[in-house]
Amino acid sequence: MRIPIAGKDELSSLSCNINDMLDKIDQSDRELRKAHDELELRVKERTEELAKKNTEMERFIYTVSHDLRSPLISVSGLLGFLKQDAEKGDLEQMNADLRIANEAVTNMDQLLLETLELSRIGRVVNPPEDVPFGEIVEGALEQTSEKIRSEGCNVSVAQNLPVVHVDRIRIIEVLVNLIENSIKYMGLQTNPEIEIGQRINGKDRIFFVRDNGIGIDHSQHNKVFELFYKVDKKSEGTGAGLAIVKRIIEVHGACIWIESEMGQGCTVCFTLPLANVE
Ligand code: ATP
Ligand code: MG
Repeated sequence: MRIPIAGKDELSSLSCNINDMLDKIDQSDRELRKAHDELELRVKERTEELAKKNTEMERFIYTVSHDLRSPLISVSGLLGFLKQDAEKGDLEQMNADLRIANEAVTNMDQLLLETLELSRIGRVVNPPEDVPFGEIVEGALEQTSEKIRSEGCNVSVAQNLPVVHVDRIRIIEVLVNLIENSIKYMGLQTNPEIEIGQRINGKDRIFFVRDNGIGIDHSQHNKVFELFYKVDKKSEGTGAGLAIVKRIIEVHGACIWIESEMGQGCTVCFTLPLANVE
């Protein structure tokens, strides 16, 4: 039997084919490695995101349980006093203690309602729509008109505000909260002013609500967004407003921050998804 011997040409074409195959294997190997690296990066990012959410959730649970416990402890203490009042037949003191207990219960109810409200954002959503931001501002100014008038605030609104793609009702709620804060934290300002406007940053728009009130120290800029956090514990309100505002903005895939110096007014800035119509 004769074994066919490959000619020179056949050998060189065979070697070319083998080289091609080796190149292809090499390329597939590189692609596989790249896909693997990308996957690892995504897993790492997701893990970090989850860890961050977990820490946020732990802090949230801690805050809610801590703040809900304090009115409860106060009521429990008052029950002891009420027993003593009853034994002494001191009706006047009894009424005073009952009033304080009632206030603590109302406060607790308010905290619970706000916690519930916070947990609803993101679960119960109104479908996003294209709305001129100016219309949202009008809606918010309508809802706050009485407070604005009674505090004698001068409000200015920028022209040419863009159309945004948002949950209209929730973004009105954001502005109402920010305007109410501006009114509430005016301090001794004799010429209270609120400015609602936008900064154009390339393709992005940064919306803002600015006031000339007491301002917020740098160290508090992030803390004020925490649930139930207040710079001045004695000020009116539960300290839930900005936590709710932040959640609404984040559900829109946008972000919010504070620009302020103590005693120099406060500017709350936020982004929003823009409509495609422009
Ligand atoms: P709530 O809004 O629940 O009635 P609140 O106004 O105290 O109560 P937030 O709106 O969450 O709560 O604000 C948190 C804290 O941030 C306020 O207590 C206040 O100390 C500070 N703050 C918010 N807005 C301003 C502002 N425009 N100027 C100065 N301080 C502000
Ligand atoms: Mg508030």
